[in-house]
Formats: sequence, C-alpha cells, structure tokens
Amino acid sequence: MKPALIHKIIPHSIVDGPGNRTSIFVQGCNLKCAYCHNPETQQVCSNCGICVEKCPTGSLYFENGEVLWEEEKCDSCGSCIQHCPYHSSPKPKWMTAEEVFKEVEKNIPFIRGITVSGGECTLYPEFLQELFILAQKAQLSCLIDSNGTTDLSQYPKLMEVCSGVMLDVKAWDRKKFKRLTGGENEMVKKNLKFLAHTNKLEEMRIVCIPGEVDVEDILEGIKTTIGDKSRNIKLKLIKFRNHGVKGRLKNTNSPSDEYMKDIQRKALEMGFQHVNIT
Ligand code: SF4
Ligand code: SF4
Repeated sequence: MKPALIHKIIPHSIVDGPGNRTSIFVQGCNLKCAYCHNPETQQVCSNCGICVEKCPTGSLYFENGEVLWEEEKCDSCGSCIQHCPYHSSPKPKWMTAEEVFKEVEKNIPFIRGITVSGGECTLYPEFLQELFILAQKAQLSCLIDSNGTTDLSQYPKLMEVCSGVMLDVKAWDRKKFKRLTGGENEMVKKNLKFLAHTNKLEEMRIVCIPGEVDVEDILEGIKTTIGDKSRNIKLKLIKFRNHGVKGRLKNTNSPSDEYMKDIQRKALEMGFQHVNIT
C-alpha cells in the first residue's frame, strides 16, 4: 500500500470536473510552471525550519529534525506558505488510499465523484489506483487532473478504474513549453493521443497568456494529433490570473475578455465544439 503526500482535501468543489466533487491535492510536482497558482504544492518540504518562527500561533515545531504541524492550533493564516522560499508547505501529510477515502466517504451523499489534482498526482500511480478502486465501489466517478508528463499507457490497471483525465496542454512548441515549465512536452503529446483513443480524455485545458502561450499553435497541434476526436472533447480556455503566482509571471496581467472570446471563436472555427472560457 503506497501512500501519497496530501496537500489538502476540499470536501466539495464545483470547479474540478463535472458536478459536486471532493478534490484531493497531492504535494510535489515535476514541473515548475511560471504561472502556477498553487506554487506551495510544487516541492516536498525540506525541513529547513524557516516557517517555524513565522507561525503566529505556534502550530509548527521541530521534532527529530522534522518540521511538524499541529492542526488544532492552526488558524490558516498562510504565513508559513508565504514565507517558504522553496514553494512548499509544512502541512502536507502522508496518507494511504484508505485514509483519504475515509475523508471522501463523509461527503458521499453530496458528491458525484472525486478529482485528484496537485502538484502532479500521477507521480503517485499506485496510490491513485487504490483510491479509485475504493471510490468506484462507492459509485463515484474518478478523475485525474494532470500535466501529462507521466506515461499513462504504462498504467493500464489505473486507467481501467480512472473515469477520465483532465489534461493540461501548456504549449505545443518544445522550446516554449520548456521556457514556461522547465520540462519537456513529448509525453504530453503522447498522452493526448493515448487518452483520446482510449476515450479517457475528459477535458483539455489551456491557460491563456498572450505573448507567453501560443493558443492557436496548441489548437493546431491538438487537431493534427487527435483529428476528429477533438470535436467532441471538452476544451477549457483558462484566463490567466496572477493571484497566488510566485513564478516569473507573477506581475503579468490577465488577458481581456475580448481576447478570450476571440480565442474561443477561433477554436470553434477550427472545429472544436465544446469550448468553455473560465
Ligand atoms: S497557516 Fe501556517 S503560519 Fe499560519 S497558523 Fe497555520 S501553520 Fe502557522
Ligand atoms: S515549508 Fe518551506 S520554509 Fe517551512 S520547513 Fe518546509 S521548506 Fe522550510
């Protein structure tokens, strides 16, 4: 039984897939996106201790060289995350699938499914598989929100119990992807094809930032890669907002509503049929 480092669990969310869902955020990511709005989920805490003295409620303390968190004392002021220079948090907990599912179970009368996000949740494939088996037994749909850098074709059992993947397509051009995220996008393209052809592509997501993200190039790339499948898969155009961003784009403004509508119009003209702006 492999645990995952859990950043937080949101009991009810209506922004992480269809219907009301419990959203589980893991800690740790293999990309460093310049526009990440959850930068505190990127790194696993190194126990440097900087945040301990910044905590106004004494919720953080050292024990055997590890920074520990007393949840009962915490007032969620955010000072620890604000002062962490390493894009981390002292609060995540290692939890097994059973432990996470116990939290999910409390919400069952009110939710349609669960979504696991991050950080990058596919860094914990065994945990995901175990959690989804439990959730499916309870008739819950199970979605993954992913940056697409893990080869999902290597996890057939996980894909069997996964209802769908919401895939970020951050850039099509290799150099632009590297500049934006620090990583490589070969695998994202491979996953796009794999998920579309196995009917597991729940949604494609593009964060729109004029001058940084070439949305038309991404749309062309998607169409060339998955052809007519692109018509019936949801496409979400996400308006960049710098709230919470700590990376290079922290002072970049949001695109205008007109820009977003123009991109949406272009996507529709290209044959995408389910295009939403958020
Ligand atoms: S959010 Fe962080 S700094 Fe604030 S009280 Fe909780 S542990 Fe302390
Ligand atoms: S959360 Fe950040 S500042 Fe606090 S101990 Fe961990 S790495 Fe250091």
